[in-house]
Amino acid sequence: MAKNPTFMTCTCCGEPMEKKYQQWWNQDRGHSLCALCAIWIKHRENKSDGDIIRIYGEEGIHRERVSENENSSAGD
Ligand SMILES: [Zn+2]
Repeated sequence: MAKNPTFMTCTCCGEPMEKKYQQWWNQDRGHSLCALCAIWIKHRENKSDGDIIRIYGEEGIHRERVSENENSSAGD
């Protein structure tokens, strides 16, 4: 199988992503979620990490890893 040289696109902000992640079934082909949008969505829509994983896939595998350590008390 030929490797696709095109990096992925963030499904939320449309920005090109710095590396290729595995395709998550719930996203359009070639689309993933960048770290900034993951943080933004989590706060804006008050979603749990589990919600985001269900929609966008596993951090660092299907989408960009969120390296920022959030001091959110809303989690578990
Ligand atoms: Zn984004």
